Amino acid sequence: MIDTTIKIQHLSAAYQGKTALKDIDVAIKPQNITGIIGPNGAGKSTFMKALLGLVPNTSGEIVFGGKAIREVRKKIAYVEQRSELDLSFPIDVFGVVLLGTYPSLRLGQRPGKKEKEHAIQALEKVGMSNYAKRQISELSGGQLQRVFIARALAQGAEWIFLDEPFVGIDAVSEKKIFSILKELKEEGKTLLIVHHDLHKVEAYFDEVILLNQELIAAGPVSEIFTAENLQRAYGEIISQLKGAENK
Ligand code: ADP
Ligand code: MG
Repeated sequence: MIDTTIKIQHLSAAYQGKTALKDIDVAIKPQNITGIIGPNGAGKSTFMKALLGLVPNTSGEIVFGGKAIREVRKKIAYVEQRSELDLSFPIDVFGVVLLGTYPSLRLGQRPGKKEKEHAIQALEKVGMSNYAKRQISELSGGQLQRVFIARALAQGAEWIFLDEPFVGIDAVSEKKIFSILKELKEEGKTLLIVHHDLHKVEAYFDEVILLNQELIAAGPVSEIFTAENLQRAYGEIISQLKGAENK
């Protein structure tokens, strides 16, 4: 099995001269589910995008299993925050999953029998085979997330990046999706998930990266997810929550 550790050194990112991430040193462990946690605007999505080379103004060093991103790009799947997607695009579920196979095709080559077989298997894995012909605009949030995970599987990704996959999804779907993600981890995938709801953090993640522009803390959830660290990451907000509880 290849080493899928992600090593990040001195990562900084900015938008139009305004700092979003400041000098972050952290490693993401292979075959784990790592949560990126922090308040709104903390830079969680920016962190994920910077790892993918999608933030123009980024500095620092990022290494995927000893390699630069350009060497491993095909093996990284990214599901962006749903609010940033255009879901009116006319494409059916099978078409979306098949898109996952495109990075492995030669220029101009169309998906063939092998690629279609991968897409069918991926849909089965997430329990969405019966929806293959459905337009994506007709899916619930939970079904849509499952389809995007299937696309990542059809891609044969080793790294799976999900930005807020549980937002706007009912509890039953969330549970189902999480059990799929856990299965993927057990098969050796490395998962990185942006998450802002603090309730499920201990249940979901092996490791957490607590962010608020700077790295607040990172490591095993049992060591890092402490009141003190949360206070440092969330400041005011947590004190307000505590205040509300006491009333
Ligand atoms: P989070 O995902 O933790 O809510 P983001 O990474 O989306 O935070 O944003 C971090 C900061 O960068 C915020 O202040 C946000 O307004 C700013 N920002 C994010 N994307 C852009 C962009 N494309 N252009 C300018 N500013 C941005
Ligand atoms: Mg975000």
